[in-house]
Amino acid sequence: MATSVLTATDLLQCSHGGPITVIVAPRRSLSAGGSLVMVQSDLTSAVIACPNVNAPCVSITSVISGASQVLTVDGSPVLLADVQGATNAGTWKATSPGSPLLKA
Ligand SMILES: [Zn+2]
Repeated sequence: MATSVLTATDLLQCSHGGPITVIVAPRRSLSAGGSLVMVQSDLTSAVIACPNVNAPCVSITSVISGASQVLTVDGSPVLLADVQGATNAGTWKATSPGSPLLKA
């Protein structure tokens, strides 16, 4: 079943409730309703405002599921609204529903 893709305006969060800021590279050939589509390689720019002071998340270390098997941009898988993975100190996921216009 097709799932909505994530765009630059969608939100990611770590398992401690910390918001994750991702810079979506602006050179994409694919957009959804004028928004840049988020791809796996964008996650290397992630900055996590993790409130878990003893062992804070500082980076995304993996994508466990939710990277498109069929749609890539610039060679990197498009991320879907059910994406999730690991950080150095916990897990992360998307907390918004993705684009209503583009599914993959
Ligand atoms: Zn965290």
